[in-house]
Amino acid sequence: MTETRTPAAAPKPVIIALDGPAGSGKSSTAKAVAERLHYAHLDTGAWYRVLTLIALRTEVDPHDEAAVRGLLDAFDQIIAQAFDHSHILIRGRDVSAAIRTPEVSGAVSRYSQLPIVRDHLNTAFRHLAATTSAPGVVAEGRDITTVTFPQAEVRVLLTASADARARRRAAQIGEADVASIARSISERDARDLSVVDFMRPADGVTLIDTSDLTLEQVTDKVAGLVPAAAGTGTNLPSHPQTQESHG
Ligand code: C5P
Repeated sequence: MTETRTPAAAPKPVIIALDGPAGSGKSSTAKAVAERLHYAHLDTGAWYRVLTLIALRTEVDPHDEAAVRGLLDAFDQIIAQAFDHSHILIRGRDVSAAIRTPEVSGAVSRYSQLPIVRDHLNTAFRHLAATTSAPGVVAEGRDITTVTFPQAEVRVLLTASADARARRRAAQIGEADVASIARSISERDARDLSVVDFMRPADGVTLIDTSDLTLEQVTDKVAGLVPAAAGTGTNLPSHPQTQESHG
């Protein structure tokens, strides 16, 4: 009898799911953990923003379902090409800064609250994670621990006081008016909270209050939750998705 050999299946990437509101330190932490462990970084908020930017530029009304479907079809190509690159490009143009403007921040919830959009993007995120060549993925957003990757090996909800969040965000974007930043953060949170609860940890999700912690302390805590048996990917190249640091 001849021996048949099946090729060893690639190990499933370890998933670190990180949720939290704007200014909780989510993006900086996700980026730092991904760098430390040599994991890919999936900033899902960036993709909701890319979709919104395209919608605004092409005047897609969120109530026009056919137009939104068309938008999602076009989006698949963009996300497939841009993942694993340090900047997000649309037709060769870097939109990393354009997706962070107040105009996009103000409009994003109108699109992200549509179930058709959430289902589509979540499917795309799961596909990206399943096909990455990195040993793991740090995925950050609002519903990552509950909807996108409820079975993730590590599930964390970051939180911070309203004051700490507004101060951080103001420093990041170089805005002196902390009170106005606090208002825009709380307005956006209120809209987003009508779709997913990212303020209270679901069962099995570790809550970390970052108000009085340094980035390094938060990074240590999150990286420390990775099961010892999971690969750390040392010597493997990292696959950062976006250079933007926020959240
Ligand atoms: O994380 P960031 O603040 O960049 O997210 C931008 C927007 O994308 C959020 O305000 C929210 O409307 C949407 N979002 C979402 N679900 C996620 C990530 C982001 O609805 N998982």
